[in-house]
Amino acid sequence: MTTLPEEAVKAYIKAFGNTPRTKAMAVKNEQKVRHALTAALPFLPVQGAVKKLAWTKGVVDIAQPMPGMKYVACNTTPKGSWAWWLDNAPETRGVFTSEEAAKAAAQADYERRILAAIEAAPPLSKLKAENARLKAQLAEARKALDGLLKPFEGDDCRYDHHGYCQAHFLQEVDECCVKIARRALAGGQEDG
Ligand SMILES: [Zn+2]
Repeated sequence: MTTLPEEAVKAYIKAFGNTPRTKAMAVKNEQKVRHALTAALPFLPVQGAVKKLAWTKGVVDIAQPMPGMKYVACNTTPKGSWAWWLDNAPETRGVFTSEEAAKAAAQADYERRILAAIEAAPPLSKLKAENARLKAQLAEARKALDGLLKPFEGDDCRYDHHGYCQAHFLQEVDECCVKIARRALAGGQEDG
């Protein structure tokens, strides 16, 4: 069960852009948004969030989310403005009017890079179709095994002192195929 992040509700309301006239309407609006997003959540491919960069204060502020990846944020000119960049990627450098804005831009860059490396999960409909296909395949195999085992009904395995079944002479490594097939059929029924 995935919980709905508050940020998602806020972002949705902001993006939708309609400002409710009263406080009561705003509350009702938020309830509707929460309801809609909760319903949609299981179908969205990425159900995680990229972690927040952990900044270490210093002469310049640094965040190193993983080896070889270093974000830098610092005071710059004009006075009061902040720059950020990803180390070894000077083209990422951006200048903003506040520390928060610069770090938010660094965060956005980090999220873009991480999310670009994630393969979206297959949609639920695809998984359901695959599951149905496997179930049908299992039913077919079970039917075939059932038929193949018919001639051996009531005919139990009898092993000689080498471990070979003398009833069926259908050895597969150290077991009789009839025994393996009976076990597989029982297991298939349990799983199905
Ligand atoms: Zn046997």
